[in-house]
Amino acid sequence: MSFPAIHLSGITKSYSHLAEKKNGDDIPDIEVLKGITLDIGQGEFIALQGTSGSGKSTLLHIIGLLDRPTAGVYEVLGQDTSILDDDRQSDLRNQSLGFIFQSFYLIPYATALENVILPGLYSGKPRSELQARAEFLLEQVGLSDRLDFKPSRLSGGQQQRVAMARALLNEPDIILADEPTGQLDSSTSSEIIKLFHVVHEMGRTIVLVTHDEEVASAADRIIKLHDGLIAEDILKG
Ligand code: ADP
Ligand code: MG
Repeated sequence: MSFPAIHLSGITKSYSHLAEKKNGDDIPDIEVLKGITLDIGQGEFIALQGTSGSGKSTLLHIIGLLDRPTAGVYEVLGQDTSILDDDRQSDLRNQSLGFIFQSFYLIPYATALENVILPGLYSGKPRSELQARAEFLLEQVGLSDRLDFKPSRLSGGQQQRVAMARALLNEPDIILADEPTGQLDSSTSSEIIKLFHVVHEMGRTIVLVTHDEEVASAADRIIKLHDGLIAEDILKG
């Protein structure tokens, strides 16, 4: 396929403060992303690295179709996202993108298996098929003996493994992760990073957001964000 996984051109994001007026004066909009132009090829493993406040999460939310840019072009898998209404954006999000967050976001009263099945419930696939895939994925992340455990009985690292399995349920082309090791100690963190390599070898495109240079060094390409702009784009040899 000739198109990149992700194509961004001149992406900006501003936040207005219409509700907040100071002494009757307008507070100017804050431009958080100042013109991001970037192609990420299919099958790449990239890290988006920068200090806190540099705009990483804002950019990942736009890439993840959780938010729209103020200006610029965003194409995912060759599809121009600006012409999609919210419903078609969420279809694309559910089919093509898998999310992993710092805080895992597992459903506390559901088992590991139920949590992994969850994103498949709207796909129309039979429950038996979803369950078989969820069991397979939980085995891949090393949790085949924890299928019936609720999140409160799992360690942080195990909870993040469940979240990784969940992100893979719908066989997305692209995995987006925002500080996935942010709540984990360093040895658990390296285990999770190893799993990202496994997921990458399965053929997924990975965008890993982190403030941590060591975590970023796991990727094949490191894009450094500084104050809403790309400061460096380093392809490791
Ligand atoms: P990072 O993930 O790199 O820490 P963010 O993308 O979360 O950075 O935030 C970048 C900047 O945008 C920060 O200065 C933050 O305060 C600001 N920001 C993020 N979301 C909003 C919002 N909803 N309204 C106003 N400002 C925001
Ligand atoms: Mg962030």
